[in-house]
Amino acid sequence: MTNTFQDTAAVNINGPGKQKNTFDAIVIGSGISGGWAAKELCEKGLKTLLLERGRNVVHIKDYPTATMDPWEFPHRNQLPREILEANPIVSKCYAFHEDTLHFFVKDNEHPYVQVKPFDWIRGYQVGGKSLLWARMTQRWGEHDFEANARDGFGCDWPIRYKDLAPWYSYVERFVGISGNRDGLPQIPDGEFLPAMELNCVERHFQESVHKNFPDRRVVVSRTANLSQAHNGRGPCQYRNLCHRGCPFGGYFSANAATIPAAEKTGNLTLRPQSVVHSIIYDDQKGRATGVRVIDALTKEATEYYARIIFVNAGTLNTTLILLNSTSNRFPNGLGNDSGVLGHYLMDHNYRGRVRGEYEGFQDKYYSGRKPGGWYLARFRNFGKDVQKDFLRGYAFSGSASRSRGNVQEGDPTIGAVFKEKLSEPGVWGMGITGMGEHLPYFENHVRLSKDKKDEWGIPLLEIDCEYKENEVAMLKDLLATGAEMLEKAGFKNIQATDSKQAPGLGIHEMGTARMGKDPKTSVLNGINQMHNVKNVFVSDGACMASSACQNPSITYMALTARAADAAVTEMKRGNI
Ligand SMILES: Cc1cc2nc3c(=O)[nH]c(=O)nc-3n(C[C@H](O)[C@H](O)[C@H](O)COP(=O)(O)OP(=O)(O)OC[C@H]3O[C@@H](n4cnc5c(N)ncnc54)[C@H](O)[C@@H]3O)c2cc1C
Repeated sequence: MTNTFQDTAAVNINGPGKQKNTFDAIVIGSGISGGWAAKELCEKGLKTLLLERGRNVVHIKDYPTATMDPWEFPHRNQLPREILEANPIVSKCYAFHEDTLHFFVKDNEHPYVQVKPFDWIRGYQVGGKSLLWARMTQRWGEHDFEANARDGFGCDWPIRYKDLAPWYSYVERFVGISGNRDGLPQIPDGEFLPAMELNCVERHFQESVHKNFPDRRVVVSRTANLSQAHNGRGPCQYRNLCHRGCPFGGYFSANAATIPAAEKTGNLTLRPQSVVHSIIYDDQKGRATGVRVIDALTKEATEYYARIIFVNAGTLNTTLILLNSTSNRFPNGLGNDSGVLGHYLMDHNYRGRVRGEYEGFQDKYYSGRKPGGWYLARFRNFGKDVQKDFLRGYAFSGSASRSRGNVQEGDPTIGAVFKEKLSEPGVWGMGITGMGEHLPYFENHVRLSKDKKDEWGIPLLEIDCEYKENEVAMLKDLLATGAEMLEKAGFKNIQATDSKQAPGLGIHEMGTARMGKDPKTSVLNGINQMHNVKNVFVSDGACMASSACQNPSITYMALTARAADAAVTEMKRGNI
């Protein structure tokens, strides 16, 4: 049965129900950014309702595969062909395996329309994608917040690095980020726990890059893995099984960190299985009064009310909710006077991969594992470097490892020689991924389908997004510089490839409800508040006015903590 909110009979809005359903604040979405919004609002004393469309995932209890050994999985952690064939989109994600299957949205569960290919990777559960993320966390630099103003592409950010710097520190102190203070303006230093170590081949690569390319700096990856116990969590056990959920709390997730902190205040009401349909706007009062929710399982419709609403449903779902929130005042979506809601969608360009083998260090190996490798901060169109072929820049991340087993093509695949070869370490290899900035283009957008709805009666999202000339020119340069650095460091058998993957698979989708100074060209102001609906705040990736080339989630966290602080200040002043 399809069901729209309007045609659902049981809307519980009257009498004592209304009081019961009224909170100081509502947060939509319990992932990385929503967890932060809930924590901050609860800690500031607001009775907060956290609405999550997926099931509950309780830290430790609901990590069913966390301590399983490979042989305990029916398919040794591989996915059977029927699952892969049924999921052509999500199975492109490197982290989609038998041990993480339960944390990913399957292709047929929540369809969307790809006007152009777009791989939308999602995790609908309490904690969202914070359970699955790879935890790479670099701050944006001054340069990034000035980028749109400098080259005129995109609208100027209403904030600068100095506005966010204290909030980066604030969230880093809670999250726990391992890293070095490297003194690079591209990725300013933060509040770090001790860094992980590079292995011998990574160190060799670092030395070679610093010698041959003085403007490029290879640093240890900054990761939200706890190199020492921190705030009652961790330390990281170096199991490299983070995607399963960590029973030690060794990495940051909403489940392990922000949601328990919010619960501790006694101010949190967490309501899983609650699909937010839209935000209620009261034309008379000139403000949002609450949200319409459909129970994910029973399809029963309910309304919840609050003075402040934070929308943190994860970029595209946030914009879907806003577009679906129509009223007399806002017929084209909540706060959408500018007409830019849904536009300027970006995802980092992860198409460039470079690999090489290193013949040296035959007498060296490493023991144990580590969750990160190295990171090479942006150097193109930065400082003295000026590129004619493209705007902005890219970063690299990579790691070196030595395979176990020296089996070559043509060797026997059974018997004593095979066993012998398996017990010898193989060759060292290095894999590098480029992460290119994606410019904000008006044409890259999402809209609501006019005729297709999901099983909760909500229009499907149509996604129309592509990489354009700038991203392709940047990719060409990235493949060349990546290969050159490996070559200079003495690597052999270098392969530089364009994966040609579609946008979306970077899993850094952002934009579509951008921040800006001008209400005519943007949706949100400098504190993530809707220009035209003062009690609604959007602080997930939807708010981004450009994409830079750092992994984005630490920036969403800092923006969210800052926005929550501003919202409560505005509330206390009686402005909202
Ligand atoms: C494999 C993988 C690796 C990644 N690696 C990194 C990395 O190294 N560094 C980095 O910075 N980022 C990384 N990311 C991206 C990172 O996970 C996201 O940027 C981050 O989770 C976004 O936070 P969010 O709060 O916006 O969304 P999410 O964490 O996705 O949370 C959104 C929540 O909203 C809920 N929701 C959606 N619609 C509704 C609705 N209608 N009603 C109620 N609830 C709703 C969802 O179910 C979900 O729980 C990675 C992601 C993946 C999957």
